[in-house]
Amino acid sequence: MKNFKTESKRVLDLMINSIYTNKEIFIRELISNASDAIDKLKFISLTDGAVKSDFCIKITVDKEKGVLTIEDNGIGMNEKDLENNLGTIAKSGTLQFKKENEGKTEDELIGQFGVGFYSAFMVADKVTVYSKAYGEETAYKFESSGVEGYEITQTEKESVGTTIELKLKADTEDEKYSEFLSEHKISALVKQYSDYIRYPIKMLKTVTERVDGGEDKDKPEYKTEQRLETLNSMVPLWKKQKSEVSKEQLNEFYKDQFHDYLDPLYSVYSKIEGTITYDALLFIPSKAPFDYYSKDFKKGLKLYSNGVLIMEKCENLLPDYFGFIRGVVDCSDLNLNISREILQQDRQLKAIANSLEKKISTELKKLMETDKDTYSKMFEEFGLSIKFGVYAGFGYKKDQLKDFLMFYSSTEEKLVSLKEYLSKMKEDQQAIYYASGESYEKIAQLPQIEKAKDKGYEILFFKDGVDEFVAKILTEYEGKKILPVAEADLSTKTEKDKIQEENKENKELLDFILQSLKGKVSEVVLSLNLKTYPVCLKSKGEISLEMEKVLNSLPNNGEKVTAQKVLEINAEHKITAKLKELFNTDKDTLSKYATVLYEQARLLEGLSVENVTEYCLAVGEIIV
Ligand code: ADP
Repeated sequence: MKNFKTESKRVLDLMINSIYTNKEIFIRELISNASDAIDKLKFISLTDGAVKSDFCIKITVDKEKGVLTIEDNGIGMNEKDLENNLGTIAKSGTLQFKKENEGKTEDELIGQFGVGFYSAFMVADKVTVYSKAYGEETAYKFESSGVEGYEITQTEKESVGTTIELKLKADTEDEKYSEFLSEHKISALVKQYSDYIRYPIKMLKTVTERVDGGEDKDKPEYKTEQRLETLNSMVPLWKKQKSEVSKEQLNEFYKDQFHDYLDPLYSVYSKIEGTITYDALLFIPSKAPFDYYSKDFKKGLKLYSNGVLIMEKCENLLPDYFGFIRGVVDCSDLNLNISREILQQDRQLKAIANSLEKKISTELKKLMETDKDTYSKMFEEFGLSIKFGVYAGFGYKKDQLKDFLMFYSSTEEKLVSLKEYLSKMKEDQQAIYYASGESYEKIAQLPQIEKAKDKGYEILFFKDGVDEFVAKILTEYEGKKILPVAEADLSTKTEKDKIQEENKENKELLDFILQSLKGKVSEVVLSLNLKTYPVCLKSKGEISLEMEKVLNSLPNNGEKVTAQKVLEINAEHKITAKLKELFNTDKDTLSKYATVLYEQARLLEGLSVENVTEYCLAVGEIIV
């Protein structure tokens, strides 16, 4: 007897003691595994003529023994496969997943985990797997009665494939496991969850029929016999007409195929006929997978040719910025005999990819126009990909992607597109304005935005590191510049003249402050851009304060990037009078004020205090 790996044990334990409400999905999981195994052998059969092709999945119920059996003639598993696939939960990120999901209910946990083979333990006391792998002589048996462990031994099995025997648990007050021995129930479940599986799912059914032509016409005769019946329609969902498929079926299909626990946010049927002909069924997931924004994530669509699965994840079918899309593509024109590597270069594949990109673009535009809420949800989950798409390759896709962008608006308090922003822009407003920070709450408190808000200007809040880079790459939208709100021209001509004059008059004071800050800022100015706050920091030149944060958080050999900073002092704030007074009476204290004001401006920007000791000592001396 071998022990399950710790991680597997935990999942198994969850299954065995499960109070999961949807136990019946074990049948979908096992059929799905069987179908995958047949897909693999079918692919081999294209080049190996010896593989027989009456592929099917067979279900048998033995009421007396309380055993349900699911059998396939797919690729099978050898000893090692049984060990690695069933003795271990192979899924990467399992541990991380568990950590992230503490506090979730069991239904959510099991559902999200994509229960797979272990779901059999929700309904069975003992699971026995007989399997013979393609190309091997010996068959093996895997037996397990739960967390104690499992055993793998040699066994006899004539044909290649896998048979899974479930010894069902005894009925309890709340759970009637014996219902999975009912032919009627099994038929219904297969229809519900696995109708589109492309191989026949057969079951020996007891059929009772009236036999006509008996001797006594008034006394009808009945005959009962066992017949192998196909339970599923076998038509792949994407081959059906849209109107034939219910939303539930579409959702089930998505969840099963892509191991998601949530219904998709949006789905797209696409039947393209022309120079290139293909069917596609595309989905936008409701939530980004936990590894979506990591290197581990692999984008791609399932690629079929005439119903044969060629590639589980064909990444060339999707550009990175639409990498969140999931789905299947079935193209009958693809040449099956070429290797997968060559397929990547295939002209037809490129044509499909181009056509798909157009289709996705059209659908997203339509969604944005007709159902903005759903589009916003999509953007909240996957918008970063689109933003990276705008920025990537020096913006060579920016014109194509700019209309998919959304940013949080100060006035609407939700995501808006640039087009919407433009449509509501004030007449006197020169540009599209944004402000950057760590969170919407923090941006809303930035000193720079107060005056623009008073003027009724809408400000876009940039909280993702890439946002300002996107703005820089775009530079403008429909002829309107995209600028930081700090650069907004909010003053009248008279005001501007006045502040220029004041800066001139107080040049010595401002120079003194600049000197006492010892190179921390490159300029100190009096400004009319502020309202309640005494000071703020502004950047000058190519690199903004937010970009400084982002760039320094990236690995870059320890070299620090520094934005050129300007300390703006609110000319209309009491502090200015105080500074003027100190300049004439107490320069020593003035330099302490300079330190405190500078550090406060940093805090307001979401930067940390640069010199804590200096700051604390200065504050200490000022307040005594
Ligand atoms: P998943 O299907 O999500 O990978 P499972 O726990 O259901 O997770 O299965 C683990 C692995 O075991 C599968 O990836 C597959 O390689 C193998 N497997 C399961 N069932 C079968 C089967 N009927 N025939 C061949 N291989 C199988």
